[in-house]
Amino acid sequence: MYDLVIIGAGAAGLSAGLYAARANLNTLVIDKGLEGGQIVNTEKVENYPGILEIGGMEFGQTLKKQAESFGCKVVMDDIQEVDLTSNPKVLKGRIDTYEAKTVILANGASHRTVGAEGEEVFSGRGISYCATCDAAFYQDKEVYVVGGGDAAVEEALFITRFASKVHLIHRRNQLRASEDLQAQAKANPKIDYMWDTEVVKFSGDKMLSSFDVRNIKTGETKTISSDDTFGVFVFVGYVPQTALVEGQVTLEDGYIVTNDHMATNIAGVFAAGDIRAKKVRQLVTAAADGVVAAVSADQYIAEQEGTLYEGLVQA
Ligand code: NAP
Repeated sequence: MYDLVIIGAGAAGLSAGLYAARANLNTLVIDKGLEGGQIVNTEKVENYPGILEIGGMEFGQTLKKQAESFGCKVVMDDIQEVDLTSNPKVLKGRIDTYEAKTVILANGASHRTVGAEGEEVFSGRGISYCATCDAAFYQDKEVYVVGGGDAAVEEALFITRFASKVHLIHRRNQLRASEDLQAQAKANPKIDYMWDTEVVKFSGDKMLSSFDVRNIKTGETKTISSDDTFGVFVFVGYVPQTALVEGQVTLEDGYIVTNDHMATNIAGVFAAGDIRAKKVRQLVTAAADGVVAAVSADQYIAEQEGTLYEGLVQA
């Protein structure tokens, strides 16, 4: 039996694994894919405090190595079923079944994709899902933003700090975003709109160099391309990966509700990173959540086993 099993080997899960293993907890991180989580789709990270610049893939791999160097075990498995209220907690994967005193849910949220051909290929190569991460790469360049909700408009406004022009592509002829954000966007001369438009195909060699759009009302298609660097940002909503724990853990709009110590409604079960109901979803906040969750799990075990040492803050 493990002291702690963490689902998700992204920034939150691996940061939790690093801290837990370093605190001598017998710790396992499980992910169905490669280590790193969403950040591996980002070409360059230049907003992680203390690191000037690092590739997203390199960041994920380094974090895994760092966690493993303290004895954290990282395995690949796809968890299908969990019983979080039993003692020990049981996690059934495709490959194995795991038992743990505590669990951290760090399996994240994935951005919704527009579903256009080539989107996966050029993700991180001209298509971005994070303005805070990537907008600065488009200083004085043209940028296209897909979406019509609060995120699309808020991020389009943010991108105007860098880009020379931001074209907002929306599939309807009116935005879903709040009146206030819409007013700000309409007052911004750098933003213009492509209404009733959907992206159907992304193309290029190594980097995105063009994409095809279609007017939903007229059926007319056109190709947008440029000899200069340009970028497409997609903000069409998020999908939290909470199907596994639905009915056991309290959710709000699909995200897991925690307190400041990352504790969920179930004793010994914590959540960290993008899967959590919160406002700022960034690499650094995911890592911070993971650290808090690991310390809380450690403290929970100490409380249960009567070995709580003085100085720990009550969760
Ligand atoms: P959202 O509100 O669900 O909006 C998603 C937008 O993407 C919609 O305009 C939708 O079009 C469009 N869309 C969805 N699937 C698409 C597809 N396959 N292709 C093209 N377009 C597609 O998502 P969000 O903007 O990420 O916001 C999520 C939540 O966070 C919301 O509750 C929002 O209020 C909140 N949020 C708040 C703030 C803020 O308060 N400042 C900032 C960001 C987010 P339709 O309109 O046609 O459905």
